[in-house]
Amino acid sequence: MSLQRMESTGWGRTVRSVSTEYAPQSIDELQEYVRDGKNPRGFIAHGLRRSYGDSSLNIGGITIDAAFLSRLEFHPNAPVVTVGAGVSIRTLEKASLERKLFPPVVPGTGLVSIGGAIAADIHGKSHHITGAFSSCVKRIQLLYSDGEIRDLYPEGPTADHFWATVGGLGLTGMILEADLQLIQMNTPSVLVEETRVNDLDEMLTLLSASDETFQHTVAWIDLSGDFRGRGVVGKGNYVSQELSAKQEEPTKSKNAPTLTFPKIGPFSLINKFSVRAFNEMWFRKPLTRGVSSIDSFMHPLDQIQNWNRIYGDRGFIQYQFVVPEGNEDFLAHVLVTMKDLGAASFLGVLKKFGKGSPAPLSFPKPGWTLALDIPAHLHNLESTLNSLDSQLCDRDGRIYLVKDARLKPEFLPTMYPRLEEWRGIRNNMDPRGMWQSDQSRRLKLC
Ligand SMILES: Cc1cc2nc3c(=O)[nH]c(=O)nc-3n(C[C@H](O)[C@H](O)[C@H](O)COP(=O)(O)OP(=O)(O)OC[C@H]3O[C@@H](n4cnc5c(N)ncnc54)[C@H](O)[C@@H]3O)c2cc1C
Repeated sequence: MSLQRMESTGWGRTVRSVSTEYAPQSIDELQEYVRDGKNPRGFIAHGLRRSYGDSSLNIGGITIDAAFLSRLEFHPNAPVVTVGAGVSIRTLEKASLERKLFPPVVPGTGLVSIGGAIAADIHGKSHHITGAFSSCVKRIQLLYSDGEIRDLYPEGPTADHFWATVGGLGLTGMILEADLQLIQMNTPSVLVEETRVNDLDEMLTLLSASDETFQHTVAWIDLSGDFRGRGVVGKGNYVSQELSAKQEEPTKSKNAPTLTFPKIGPFSLINKFSVRAFNEMWFRKPLTRGVSSIDSFMHPLDQIQNWNRIYGDRGFIQYQFVVPEGNEDFLAHVLVTMKDLGAASFLGVLKKFGKGSPAPLSFPKPGWTLALDIPAHLHNLESTLNSLDSQLCDRDGRIYLVKDARLKPEFLPTMYPRLEEWRGIRNNMDPRGMWQSDQSRRLKLC
């Protein structure tokens, strides 16, 4: 049995946590280990640790690596795949494309595991059409804390356990595998149209209008200078066979990352000059208009490995929230607040969400979602974000828990009004309270 004491951190590198890392060799071994589990800090499953804060960490307890769950089996007569929880979205995409199939929902990075995708009910650029990841999940196989393995379905007698597991941050059990419904994909290409916009109003108008004609929409916002919301709106549609034949082959179609960011120790490369220069360059870069590979359109950041090191040892917070339509003034307010805080950074992303999923803890709901990377060392950051959280509650908004490293528990019931319902189901699924994480204790989730 492989057990090792290990220090781990989330993608934002603000939280460090020492736990006993368990890398199971087989499902039988894992079942027995979980059934006999006695550690009072319990256990939590993890995938590729792309959650930003402490969702996958468990100080003093056990963390279980899902990497060995690598099954990938396409059904012969339907566009459905049975996939192990440890398989990455990138691997699934690649294998699917070989069969002219594709997952309908993919995140901004391909380095997310299927278990992590379900446990966070992740969203992509297609949310206004497809909804969140759970919309393509037909079955979840879950290991419970009593050691039993059960199949859960979105409808029928197991539906409450299924929906508590979707977005449930690993706190109902360990996902072993899932059946996913895929979409037919004639070519591995997307027809992309990028447009430069000069301020937030222009950006909001263009994003809303584009949702009617494009399968994928997202905007990059310049988080420097006057923070007025200028940026680039990216829109895309899958390319049909006929159109592809007339176009050139996509130029960037490699799956492997091309650059690795070096270790820079305690120093951050972020300062107002470097950020201003980068953002100016990005705003002025030649716009893409034409056929692009799916990979470079869906996962542009994967071209640079370990880019999270740019913030140095203090790390960074990703503040991602959603507010209902009608609260556009709040988006402008957040940008001004970031300017006043001196929170210049490289990554600001805006997207309009469509319908939410039936999962009580799923993040997306109709409205605007804004994601901002913020260097963690900034003076007054904590009090500023607490104040924004409180304003978000007044506006029916919420923050994305899998990006969170610092939310106060008192805001949770307002942001997630079905929290009590989820707790009831979760306590019924895990009466011993064995599934725990640093985040679940910090937020008093269970
Ligand atoms: C560059 C970048 C871009 C991103 N873009 C997006 C995006 O566009 N949309 C979006 O929604 N998210 C996005 N994310 C966030 C990411 O999709 C989620 O954090 C996702 O959960 C990470 O999956 P993981 O395999 O790394 O899981 P981990 O970080 O290892 O774990 C995340 C959570 O899932 C649980 N979990 C993992 N595996 C299992 C399992 N087998 N059984 C039960 N629970 C499990 C963990 O307990 C934890 O609570 C992005 C992250 C990065 C770093």
